[in-house]
Amino acid sequence: MEQLARHWIRPEIQELSAYHVADASGLIKLDAMENPYTWPEDLRREWLSALRKVDVNRYPDPQARALAEQLRQTMGVPADMAVLLGNGSDEIIQMLAMAVGGSGRGILSVEPGFVMYRMIAIWCGMDYVGVPLNADDFSLDMPALRKAIEETAPALIFLACPNNPTGNQFAETDVLDVLEMAPGLVVVDEAYAPFTDTSFMPRLGQHDNLLVMRTVSKLGLAGLRLGMLAGPPAWLEQIDKLRMPYNINVLTQTTASFALEHHQVLDEQTADIRRERTRMRAALEAMTGLRVWPSQANFLLVRTDPGQARILFDHLLDNGVLVKKLHGSHPLLEDCLRFTVGKPEENDRLLKLLGSFRG
Ligand code: PMP
Repeated sequence: MEQLARHWIRPEIQELSAYHVADASGLIKLDAMENPYTWPEDLRREWLSALRKVDVNRYPDPQARALAEQLRQTMGVPADMAVLLGNGSDEIIQMLAMAVGGSGRGILSVEPGFVMYRMIAIWCGMDYVGVPLNADDFSLDMPALRKAIEETAPALIFLACPNNPTGNQFAETDVLDVLEMAPGLVVVDEAYAPFTDTSFMPRLGQHDNLLVMRTVSKLGLAGLRLGMLAGPPAWLEQIDKLRMPYNINVLTQTTASFALEHHQVLDEQTADIRRERTRMRAALEAMTGLRVWPSQANFLLVRTDPGQARILFDHLLDNGVLVKKLHGSHPLLEDCLRFTVGKPEENDRLLKLLGSFRG
């Protein structure tokens, strides 16, 4: 069996490590950029009565038209732009790669960055180029980007704005320069839009090669798996051909529509998370042995003293708090951990454990 698998599975797939998700049972979960808040009981009851009306024997609306319209409104998509929905923005990244992929075609992004850009490039048999960010502030290294774009002429460039796992927003002028330099598509991935005030959405249509991607995951609906791509119809009509029929299931369509009707609840939650981010950053900055970077997302990147990240990660885990260990994942993330901003009491617990840590 093993031999057969080794014979038939493509070598580059055999070399991949599967996307790892840590078991968080019983832990305070500050590892995956989720919104920590659930819905109030009366809203849950109303939601359940909406679900009661769903006929699961029927296929869902294949285009999820009602939901797509609501997303357009909520996310400020310009009227002349098209939208396409995906089973999480992960699925949209995959559709994009399949649409432009083929021999000699490549994806370019920056590193450290969101790992799925590279994974999906490999799944689709494409080349992947990861251009390192500037070491100190994780800004775009424009000379290096220019060189890599000229040399590799990537079909597709992903820029997460703000970036994961560094949390910073790239300078708008730099992103505009990338749009100018790129021979192919540039996807501005705005997964963390609820936590920042800038967006490329209003610029759609001003550049032939710009698409904007969003997700509802960080907003508070990670369990639904729903992402959105917005951009000129000429691109989206083509990419839509790679969408699985009925990719947005009926429970997601109904629940997301319901949630967007009550989006002020989610907006209040994300506003709380922003306030907690400010408080956490100040508290972390005041700690010795820890460096914290500014963040426009719902997480904070920190660096421990040399050699301490692994020990601190274990100390937190032993005391019931799961964060993300980035140390070892990229040279620019030596001694780094990422803390998702949680509820005030969860953040307090984290701060207390950090305060009691003696590495
Ligand atoms: N883009 C970025 C930059 C992300 O950090 C993530 C999730 N960590 C995603 C996309 C994927 O989001 P989704 O849950 O919609 O697949």
